[in-house]
Amino acid sequence: MKSVVGNFPLKFAVIYAGFSGLWIAGSDQVVQLLFPEIVSTAQTFKGSAFVLCTTVLLFLLLRGELNRRTKIETRLRDSERKFRAIAETAPVALLIARLRDGVILFSNATANGLCGRDGTPLDGLDIRDLGFVPNDREEWRRALIGRNGTGQTEGRLSLANGEERRLLVFFQKVRLAGETVLVTAAVDISERHRAAETVRNLQSELAHASRVSAMGEMAAQFAHELSQPLTAISTCAEGGVDALFPPGRNPDNALTALRLIVTQAKRASEIIRRTRKFIQKHEQEKVPADVNSLIRDAAELIQGEANHRNVDMRLRLAELLPAAFVDVVQIQQVIVNLARNGIEAMSGNEPTRRQLVISTEPSPDGIVVSVEDSGPGISPEIRTRLFEPFFSTKSDGLGIGLSICRSIVEAHGAHLVVSSAPGHGAQFRFALPSLAA
Ligand code: ADP
Repeated sequence: MKSVVGNFPLKFAVIYAGFSGLWIAGSDQVVQLLFPEIVSTAQTFKGSAFVLCTTVLLFLLLRGELNRRTKIETRLRDSERKFRAIAETAPVALLIARLRDGVILFSNATANGLCGRDGTPLDGLDIRDLGFVPNDREEWRRALIGRNGTGQTEGRLSLANGEERRLLVFFQKVRLAGETVLVTAAVDISERHRAAETVRNLQSELAHASRVSAMGEMAAQFAHELSQPLTAISTCAEGGVDALFPPGRNPDNALTALRLIVTQAKRASEIIRRTRKFIQKHEQEKVPADVNSLIRDAAELIQGEANHRNVDMRLRLAELLPAAFVDVVQIQQVIVNLARNGIEAMSGNEPTRRQLVISTEPSPDGIVVSVEDSGPGISPEIRTRLFEPFFSTKSDGLGIGLSICRSIVEAHGAHLVVSSAPGHGAQFRFALPSLAA
């Protein structure tokens, strides 16, 4: 008779039964050949012992498994409670919406408050109806359909009560329970935005005050500048009168004198117009402009100061420059500030060594404008503090000129760069965005 303990190989039964020490491992075939009855009894015994052991073992295994599952479930519940508490009380507005139809599946208290719905969850609403308009719709759309589906954008949220909030929104497309959802976290940056606007307004006020102050300081030179065309006007007028009402009458002389009067009067009114325009308050307004011509106008503004201080001011302007997209008055203010600094820096030089060069040249970055003097240059210690507001080495300096210049240049997407070898003057330059670039 073929001896098989049930369908189980004997050695497995031996292993299980071996727990109670009732059986010694061996070959079932050998035992069956020698003692068939013992084998039969043993088989019954082995079977029962095996069933018992297996049952106990299975029971123990099941209980262990049940304990493990209970622990995992408890841990999961704790963890879910923890994350829900974090999500619901987070100071960041959290929203989860289905991508397919925009339906909001979850919104936390901050999101509800931010959307002007304190206490009422946004669940079930369409995320597109909340009134959020990204600053850059195209970028937002690209990020949403893009492969990694992640990104950030700034935008406005218009509330039903007419209030408008500025938001910084981070978003991520994820798969959740078989659905593609959009997880968004938004931060209210309205306050920051207002503060930045206040700073911008203050900067513009400061820039205006600085222009007025510069003009105030240059008033004496202006009076001098204006006195020239005015003197010419009166001299020419006298000449004209003499020519018209002779002793020896000459109509050609009268005409020349009248033409000169017109020219000089125009020049005087041009000086006044430029000055008024320069000190007028204005909002930043970028327009396509001829950089050389705005430099010529700025140079006219400082010519009086340069003459007064015996500075030889030269313009080296590249020809055929493309137009630049700039705020004309602001760029003139930069040039006037830099040129005045250069003129002041050279006051200790011999009068023959006071040279100021304002130049333009085209470059791949745009139109490079540079203002270079032959003064003492800038030491490394001063250089580190040069653009700090209110830093000045002058007894009557305000120390805001260069910081204003830098803000203006940066508002034009450029950098104000300084280079100077002490003893060999200083050069300030920046590249204005050209329309051809
Ligand atoms: P302020 O002219 O009122 O001092 P600025 O901000 O225009 O204020 O300049 C800050 C300081 O930078 C000046 O006091 C001066 O020490 C230094 N500086 C600016 N331009 C030059 C220059 N071209 N050469 C040497 N030093 C300069």
